[in-house]
Amino acid sequence: MKHISILGSTGSIGTQALDVIRQFPGKLKVVALSGHTNINLLIEQVREFKPEIVHVSEDKNLEDLKNAIKTSGTKLITGKEELINIATYPKSDMVLSAIVGFAGLIPTIEAIKAGKDIALANKETLVVAGDLVMDLAAKHNVNIIPVDSEHSAIFQCMQGEDYDMVRRIILTASGGPFRTTDLKKLQKVSVKDALNHPNWSMGNKITIDSATMMNKGLEVIEAYHLFKIPPFKIEVIVHPESIVHSLVEFKDRSIKAQLGLPDMRVPIQYALTYPDRAKNTFEEFSFTKYAALHFEQPDIKRFPALDIAFEAIRRGGNTPCIINAANEIAVNAFLKEKIRFMQIPKIVEETMESATPCVNPSINDLLETDIESRKIAEELIK
Ligand code: NDP
Ligand code: MG
Repeated sequence: MKHISILGSTGSIGTQALDVIRQFPGKLKVVALSGHTNINLLIEQVREFKPEIVHVSEDKNLEDLKNAIKTSGTKLITGKEELINIATYPKSDMVLSAIVGFAGLIPTIEAIKAGKDIALANKETLVVAGDLVMDLAAKHNVNIIPVDSEHSAIFQCMQGEDYDMVRRIILTASGGPFRTTDLKKLQKVSVKDALNHPNWSMGNKITIDSATMMNKGLEVIEAYHLFKIPPFKIEVIVHPESIVHSLVEFKDRSIKAQLGLPDMRVPIQYALTYPDRAKNTFEEFSFTKYAALHFEQPDIKRFPALDIAFEAIRRGGNTPCIINAANEIAVNAFLKEKIRFMQIPKIVEETMESATPCVNPSINDLLETDIESRKIAEELIK
């Protein structure tokens, strides 16, 4: 039995992970959960999964949750700082890191320090602090198993393979809702249009990141750290059907790919059951329904965020942390209709040029970078 803690159980990844866990009562058991604002859903989860401990940041309006835990025997903890108790809960073997954004970083680091294997959905952790996090994982002998579908695909392709024999890795991108939108119209797209992803149903932040392709940029940085592959060996190809989840080409020119329907429960399950595979009841793939698969170069005019991410890796140090913070602020402002869609990458790029660079940042340096970059991005938005 593997005991799991979920950071961000009320989100898109969190709920799909619980759906996976529900299928394997003899293999996977939830011991700790954390939610943030969606208390009603957290109550349902506590009632069904009866975790030993549950966390919410705020101590307000928790009467119903307190009543629910009376019958489940769950311990409730509150307050921002207390979240690390979910990440480090002694009885858990693995932590699913599924909080969105920079907020996922510190609990993930604390989980690694406590020796927990990590199923990593929160890509921002590696974007912001990839060097530190990977070093820490090596030091504490912790496995970081990717949940992000592209990285799970590469990880699966690499089983039994030698990283020295990799010629390049190719990350696929759907191209999002605006892959073919007229460039002039792109200036005026609405929040609703941007949230209408053609293939995946995800949380709002990553859905906007997919529309700007900042998501793919963040994934390039994530892959660079996770697989220790130099950026010139990482390519991005647009694949509108989202069936090929990514590919690895080896030095003998053989290419391995991982395919499947766009269903995040598949990479989530792989991470939770790794190194085993387990039979499930998900929908079967039909080759005749997907008789043709398409691939095209990403359009850099349409998706400048991709170039910004590659530039952030080249500059290194705290630059990926800067663009991550600016992006979080810009996406939030777009969701609140304070800026237009194509202003998101502009704000990210301008923040990258203005924030104070730092060559070999510590965690404290990164926390400062995050605060400074957010301020700069907010000023630009004003
Ligand atoms: P959601 O917005 O759906 O969920 C985020 C989760 O984090 C929720 O449980 C939310 O709680 C919680 N949360 C938000 N802010 C805070 C905070 N400040 N402190 C503590 N908890 C917080 O996001 P997704 O599930 O879509 O994404 C999660 C992560 O996984 C992201 O990093 C994303 O990039 C990555 N990812 C997601 C994929 C997907 O298909 N969704 C695919 C690949 C990667 P509440 O809802 O209760 O407020
Ligand atoms: Mg992805």
